[in-house]
Amino acid sequence: MRYADVVLPVAVPGLFTYALPEDLQPHVQAGCRVLVPFGAKKTTAALIVRLHDTEPQGINLKAIISVIDPKPIILDWQLSLWQWIADYYMCTLGEVYKAALPAPLKKGKAESRRRRTDPEPPADVVLPMPIDATGSTPQTADTPATPASPPLSPAQQTAYEAINTEWQSRNVCLLHGITSSGKTEIYIHLIADAIAQGQQVLYLLPEIVLTSQLTDRLRAVFGQRLGVYHSKYTDSQRTAIWQRQLSPEPYDIIVGVRSSVFLPFSRLGLVIVDEEHETTFKQQDPAPRYHARNVAILLAARMRAHVLLGTATPSFESYFNARTGKYGLVRLTERYGNVRLPRIEVVNVKELRRKRLMEGAFSPQLLDAMRDVLARGEQIILFQNRRGFATQTECRTCGWVPHCPHCDVALTLHKRIHRLTCHYCGFTTDIPTRCPNCEGDDLRQTGFGTERIEDDIHTHFPEARIARMDLDTTRSRQAYETIIHDFAQGRTDILVGTQMVTKGLDFENVSLVAILAADTMLNQPDFRAWERAFQMMSQVAGRAGRRQRQGLVMLQTYAPDLPLIAQVVANDYDAIYTSQMLERRQYAFPPFIRLIIIYIKHRSQTVIDQLAREATIDLQHIFGSRVLGPDEPPVARVQSLYIRRVILKIEPTLPLTQVHDHLYKVRQTLLAQHLYSSANIYFDVDPL
Ligand SMILES: [Zn+2]
Ligand SMILES: [Zn+2]
Repeated sequence: MRYADVVLPVAVPGLFTYALPEDLQPHVQAGCRVLVPFGAKKTTAALIVRLHDTEPQGINLKAIISVIDPKPIILDWQLSLWQWIADYYMCTLGEVYKAALPAPLKKGKAESRRRRTDPEPPADVVLPMPIDATGSTPQTADTPATPASPPLSPAQQTAYEAINTEWQSRNVCLLHGITSSGKTEIYIHLIADAIAQGQQVLYLLPEIVLTSQLTDRLRAVFGQRLGVYHSKYTDSQRTAIWQRQLSPEPYDIIVGVRSSVFLPFSRLGLVIVDEEHETTFKQQDPAPRYHARNVAILLAARMRAHVLLGTATPSFESYFNARTGKYGLVRLTERYGNVRLPRIEVVNVKELRRKRLMEGAFSPQLLDAMRDVLARGEQIILFQNRRGFATQTECRTCGWVPHCPHCDVALTLHKRIHRLTCHYCGFTTDIPTRCPNCEGDDLRQTGFGTERIEDDIHTHFPEARIARMDLDTTRSRQAYETIIHDFAQGRTDILVGTQMVTKGLDFENVSLVAILAADTMLNQPDFRAWERAFQMMSQVAGRAGRRQRQGLVMLQTYAPDLPLIAQVVANDYDAIYTSQMLERRQYAFPPFIRLIIIYIKHRSQTVIDQLAREATIDLQHIFGSRVLGPDEPPVARVQSLYIRRVILKIEPTLPLTQVHDHLYKVRQTLLAQHLYSSANIYFDVDPL
């Protein structure tokens, strides 16, 4: 008798064993999906991990019903990569399966499915997902034989050669190139080299918002050899790309966001991770809480492919790896076309407020500069990291503030939809006209969101054409492409936005960038706060001054004397890196130690506090002073669940498998207690 160990797209750990009926045996391999009975009356699609002859003991064995895929849809190396992700990031293989495949490939809905009772011969088995959802059948006709790459400047040429030299001794190279230094041209040359050698390329981007500008540039060079893969594409489009990658004529280049590390590649030669410092490469929820950059590096190592990490502001982890020789390091310190770096002017908001000179979120200096820029017909980007209109509503009589009933956060006023909204769970409610606490009607709106900034600009500059780019205006892919396109074409003068506007977008005519409130970034209770603030401010500053004229960046802050501000002004990455590394070494933070956060969630506040204390004590018995906590995250209740954290700091020398085993055992013991049985305990490895 043959047996199949299968994985189901569920959070239950372990594999499930089914009997493989004799008539199905010629038609299945590991990596194929099959239909299996699951639960009382249900059937579900499952993926075969391995086939074997060992009869499982002590279970009521059920048989596979039918075969869905005539050929594997997952390659051998993918299964082993999934297993590595599940082990390292402490989740189940089923959760990786769920994250990796487009929805239709998980459901196993098939046009034609080979049932056990089917009389048809095996040759009639057809592909369940025909390649062609979207007209993306293999096209080779208009693919240029030798793509025309853009010429490189002497500085770019030197960097290009240095990267190739680094790759002779190391797989991974970090390209630290200042904003507007033309990293993309270098990538294009490296991609062309890889394709010329018959290799595939994976180009990872942190944000969907960046793909359209980039794919336009790459398509101009590489034509139909390029496939794009991200979550704003429909399920059938994503399935078509998956199937195409399994076909004899896969795309040579895949451009995509983090989930594209799960695509099947047969001859991967190069992985580019652009804007490698971006935190969106790390998946937060649900599991697997993986870091796509780190998975890509592992993937490349297995396929003997080269990796290039590119950024103007490297993550400290990557820079540490480069400085200690684990990665190669190549610098590009010259802006393309010798455009000068912008001048950064620091505006002391505290003093201006004291003198009552601020007009809302705008300093008089900023308003003057905006007036000049608009008069010259040039463009402006305003960066404000809060969306909505007012960040807080407050009763001036009794101090009442409306909070979300499900989360521990104040509600944000959204004027356009006339609602108060929770940014954590999406709860909305009417804007109160009276305070429910004291019946007073003196309600005040405080804090500046992007909506309010947009309104205020209309007041100051009624003639200016304004666009806003934040989560609320970019719900559809079409919407943000329109905003970006209109701004690039000069149809708008001023672009207001959240961190979306910092993400490496290139606009020719922007000569003024303002960071309206740097302080919100500085005051985060996180050891990475300054690293992130530096990255964000440098990136947004980099949007200014693309042409002959030197750009201007206005940085409004309550704390102009912080060393970080001087480091941003001087664009001194090494200074902030060195000072922050001293602190991280002294207080034991990454990259000197590894962090694992144990998250605990429960509906009852009493239960969660008791459970968190007990978990901490249990962990301290094993790990001693490496355990910190329990503590509350900045938002300690979301969607009616209370949240507590226990933090584990482990030296890189500790064997990870043992650490994980201890953590799993502690969790198992706690959840076995009746009082805690409905708690949710999960792990975030290398949290960001
Ligand atoms: Zn009141
Ligand atoms: Zn909420």
